Amino acid sequence: MAETKSQELIPRDVPAVRTKYRRIQTPIPVPESIPILQQLRAHEPRSMSGQPLVVWDRAEGYQVFDRWGNCWIDWSSGVLVTNVGHNHPAVAQAITDQVNHGLVHNYCFPSEIRAKLVKRLARAAPEGLGKVFLLTTGSEAVECAIKLARTWGPTVGPPEKIAVVTFDNAFHGRTLGSQMAGGIPALKNWIVHLDPDLVQAPFPDGFRGGPDTSFDVFLNTLVAKGVRPERVAGVMTETYQGGNASFAPPEYIQKLRAWCDEHKALLIFDEVQAGFGRTGRYWGFEHYGVVPDLICCGKGITSGMPLSAVIGRDDVMDLYPPGSMTSTHTGNPVCAAAALASLDVIDAENLVEAAQRKGEILQAELRRIGGRFPERVGAVHGRGLVAALHVVQPGGIEPDPDTASRIVLRCVEKGLLMFAPVGYAGASVKVAPPLVIPEEPLRESLAVLEEACQEVMG
Ligand code: PMP
Repeated sequence: MAETKSQELIPRDVPAVRTKYRRIQTPIPVPESIPILQQLRAHEPRSMSGQPLVVWDRAEGYQVFDRWGNCWIDWSSGVLVTNVGHNHPAVAQAITDQVNHGLVHNYCFPSEIRAKLVKRLARAAPEGLGKVFLLTTGSEAVECAIKLARTWGPTVGPPEKIAVVTFDNAFHGRTLGSQMAGGIPALKNWIVHLDPDLVQAPFPDGFRGGPDTSFDVFLNTLVAKGVRPERVAGVMTETYQGGNASFAPPEYIQKLRAWCDEHKALLIFDEVQAGFGRTGRYWGFEHYGVVPDLICCGKGITSGMPLSAVIGRDDVMDLYPPGSMTSTHTGNPVCAAAALASLDVIDAENLVEAAQRKGEILQAELRRIGGRFPERVGAVHGRGLVAALHVVQPGGIEPDPDTASRIVLRCVEKGLLMFAPVGYAGASVKVAPPLVIPEEPLRESLAVLEEACQEVMG
């Protein structure tokens, strides 16, 4: 991918900003930060240089600070990680206490803190999902769910019951299996020999997936691709498609649940982004009124430390005998302490309800702002405190990644931190503030986005 203007290491003068919540008082990127950026460019792969050129020094709550006096309202949450806010005092204290207590690693040897966390997660999950396997990244959780589905299939059907159906435009991670399960062909070129039993169906978002959001599309796709239902071990979907913040119609997912039951296929929700309050529900799948068989989670589980999990039905989770489904850093005690504290904060501060309430403001305002530029914003998707503006070429639905990048760049220059556009062809401006953002800075940040949209597309 060619470098965009926003990635050039050339400081640009930008108007100063000083409000209660934002401060920009230097050129962007900051001239003094260039050596750090150069060092990263020299020693990291080029793939790591895609984000706005803000050198993070400190982050607290819903704000990110650099060393040179600039301060941003954060609409990234890292990458949908810091649900309870950056460096929440309770999470920081739990991490410190665990280190001071004297256990920072325990592999699969039993430990009390891991016992506490798996019990806590099993309790947070719907009834019937009683077992929890802790891992480190979202991709690993997805890989594990695929492995479980493909191991389980032949135990309830023929040996070839190993197909896993996923969705077009889905993102499940960057490792071999998770990338193959994803639905973005350009990201899979390197794999060459794609597994024929990882099959994609159109995602019923009513936009990129086409206007027909009926469940018939799923059924017809299986027929067209020659996948017999008895060969399907599982169907996996992101609760909402991360890149585009797109949800499916509840009726579709309810029919999918019934179809999975009928054909003995596991329904797997990838909640890596959606879990722990992000969408205004504890679990995102609650919007659909269904219960999955397996849940993959990560990101917001700790609000900062690397930890992920597969939560699922006992019979599926117990397929592998002792010692054969493990991981070096499973339930790392420091990460487990952070997770327990973060889960406590979500409850104590009513952050699920807060995400729902503030989400109503966010979603309404984003739709209003998008509506001001009907030629350029093809759709606004999202729920709770996650959303995306789908930026398109004038008058059509062809994605316009360039304009999306310019909007993000303008926002960053004005003290609103966002990650680089994601989603379909990199043309989605994604919005995901920490769930703790108060209403006033939320409204201020929406005004910043509107200004940026006006400047770029007006
Ligand atoms: N699933 C979803 C829905 C995700 O959004 C992501 C990360 N963006 C992943 C899986 C992969 O997680 P990780 O980067 O921690 O491997």
